[in-house]
Amino acid sequence: MTTAFISHDDCLRHINPPGHPERAERLEAIWGALEAEEFAYLVRVDAPLAEDAHLVRAHPAAYLAQLAARSPERGYAPIDGDTFMMPGTLAAARRGAGAVVMAVDMVMAGEVRNAFCAVRPPGHHAETATAMGFCFFGNAVVGARHALEAHGLERVAIVDWDVHHGNGTQDLVWDDPRILFASTHQMPLYPGTGAAEERGAHGQVVNVPLPPGASGGVFRAGMLGRVLPAVEAHEPQMILVSAGFDAHARDPLANLNLTEADFAWATAQLCALADRVCGGRIVSTLEGGYDLSALAASAAAHVRVLMERGHG
Ligand SMILES: [Zn+2]
Repeated sequence: MTTAFISHDDCLRHINPPGHPERAERLEAIWGALEAEEFAYLVRVDAPLAEDAHLVRAHPAAYLAQLAARSPERGYAPIDGDTFMMPGTLAAARRGAGAVVMAVDMVMAGEVRNAFCAVRPPGHHAETATAMGFCFFGNAVVGARHALEAHGLERVAIVDWDVHHGNGTQDLVWDDPRILFASTHQMPLYPGTGAAEERGAHGQVVNVPLPPGASGGVFRAGMLGRVLPAVEAHEPQMILVSAGFDAHARDPLANLNLTEADFAWATAQLCALADRVCGGRIVSTLEGGYDLSALAASAAAHVRVLMERGHG
């Protein structure tokens, strides 16, 4: 068994206004890094479009209809100050959620041990019926609910190390005791949620805010002290990762000081945990990361460890 790499050209066709940090070049930078020889054995798959039946496990049908109604035939339709729809947005967003659904199917079928979905727009800020923070669909939650409801799993975990708090993921899973959500993020920072006191309706939300300027050591201590023990105690049958790489020291949108080595370390820790509790099943999906070279190097470091551990 090995590692799936799931993406789609449609994810380039969500084109934000000029100067916007969430741009198609992000994906092209990751694709470029993964053309290296060492990644030749990735199982490369085109992401399908998520179906309404997948998306309504996370978002009400009325929200899907509202997004379709706001989708412009040309130009931009602003959703909020930094979230825009354009003609290619809905297809890109559906590929993003569809990638995670396919990754869950492939891992559950035993075709691969783990998977990385290189998609955009990202997902973890999209709330139940509110697109925000560059995000439209809660891709990780769509995947988690698919694992629970289509594959009969009883417990899954979502680990989110994007530098921003995954307010959308938290909103979508708040009342769902089957899904543990554990997040490290800079605080204070957009979107402002993610205090340690926010615990979910069943105590299954674990927020680990990190102070501006924190380096990899602080991040690793939070993972070892809070995130990994909570995930292990939940006994998940699959671990999903909201893999944002904007906690990197060079990222322009935040002030943490992680490096590629920290993302590789966190990936290895999660792989070891997954080996212990769920047969190594990990489905990871891209969230943020806005310095192109740091993003490419960090994603490559993440996928390198997934591949090494995928053979274990
Ligand atoms: Zn982010």
